[in-house]
Amino acid sequence: MKKTKLKTKLKPIIGMEVHVELNTSSKMFCGCPAKHFRIKPNTHTCPVCLGLPGALPVPNQKAVNWTILTGLALNCQINKQSKFDRKHYFYPDLAKGYQISQYDQPLSQNGFLIITSGKKIRLNRVHLEEDTGKLLHKKIKGQNLTLVDFNRSGVPLMEIVTEPDITSGSEAKEFLKNLRDILRTLKVSDCDMEKGSMRLEANISLSPTSRPYKVEVKNLNSFRFVDQAINYEIARQTKLIGQGITPKQETRGFNSKTKTTHSQRSKEEAQDYRYFPEPDIPPLVFTDEYINKIKDQLPTLPEEKISLLMKKYKLNHSAASLLVINQHDQYFKKAVKLAPTNISAPTIANLIVNKKINPQTTSPKQLITDLVSKSAAQISDEKLLLGIIKQVIKTNPKPVKSYHQGKTTVITYLIGQVMAQTKGQANPQLTKKLLKQNL
Ligand code: ZN
Ligand code: MN
Repeated sequence: MKKTKLKTKLKPIIGMEVHVELNTSSKMFCGCPAKHFRIKPNTHTCPVCLGLPGALPVPNQKAVNWTILTGLALNCQINKQSKFDRKHYFYPDLAKGYQISQYDQPLSQNGFLIITSGKKIRLNRVHLEEDTGKLLHKKIKGQNLTLVDFNRSGVPLMEIVTEPDITSGSEAKEFLKNLRDILRTLKVSDCDMEKGSMRLEANISLSPTSRPYKVEVKNLNSFRFVDQAINYEIARQTKLIGQGITPKQETRGFNSKTKTTHSQRSKEEAQDYRYFPEPDIPPLVFTDEYINKIKDQLPTLPEEKISLLMKKYKLNHSAASLLVINQHDQYFKKAVKLAPTNISAPTIANLIVNKKINPQTTSPKQLITDLVSKSAAQISDEKLLLGIIKQVIKTNPKPVKSYHQGKTTVITYLIGQVMAQTKGQANPQLTKKLLKQNL
């Protein structure tokens, strides 16, 4: 038989699953404090979150409202009828033998998020569930032991699932950054990956193949690792398919040192979990009025804030988004209000985003006072500058020549020369303008 090499271009199909711990003061189905990071093990527990027989769960209304709020911020449809389901699996950190989650009637579904590049990533759902306990692997008296801490058991956990609209590691990273900014703006979670309050999973496959499959990479605790894991998987799966092998449907782990993934176990299917409605919690029913009240609490979201800053203060996209992402936009606005007219808003913004000042230690007033005294010391006298500029042009024939040959970036070098001559006090905008006129 003649071997034909079909050169079909393989397309990466990537979906993300993000688990986010909510910032509520109490747990999802009991009154225990939800705080669990660096807390003495097994001190924030009760019969409910330990899964003792007969204990009854009562849903945390704040967690429900925050999930609806998140759904609204992510353009989801809010289900007026929702319910909790039991998802069964065995693991030592899951005391009940099942997790209370949501299956076919999540709080919200069918949303989307438009990432910075302008691409729309569709969201399958935003649902609410409970976190599990934590296993601690320790060596005690020479013995390798696994201990269980149930402080995290029952902490409200929101799950956000995308449709497989992502096509690269960098796009996944962008999506995650945008999502985190929204969640932080909503103040529903601190999204701190080191504390485990934001946990990431990627589902990666390539198309077309002879039969469909999905590879899940778990426990990715930074956006960079997501990017690296996806790149590794795309290369690994491309190679397999090139050899005529369809990659196995499985769950893989990621090694951040080698930047590679490794097989952990075959992936479960939904039927493996034996989902059924949680009999101890009645279905949730919401009126339009209830949902609208939550809608009224929606703050201005990052993208909206960015475009407002760009419009009102004539900032470029990068300065505006850095102000918003670093939560320095209020500080910036205060500083602009205090500034005299000769100091422009973009100048102030650039100063803040270039981290030349620290908003934690410098008040907006101090920032402006410094700027004013600096600009007073600046040489803005055209005649004086012109003399220096002409001198610089005369003594730098080579860069001047390359400027005339079209290498206009050398102007930065010439500005630098003027700055050196004036000990950094030349007004940079004026220097640039005069240089251009005289070159
Ligand atoms: Zn409890
Ligand atoms: Mn989950």
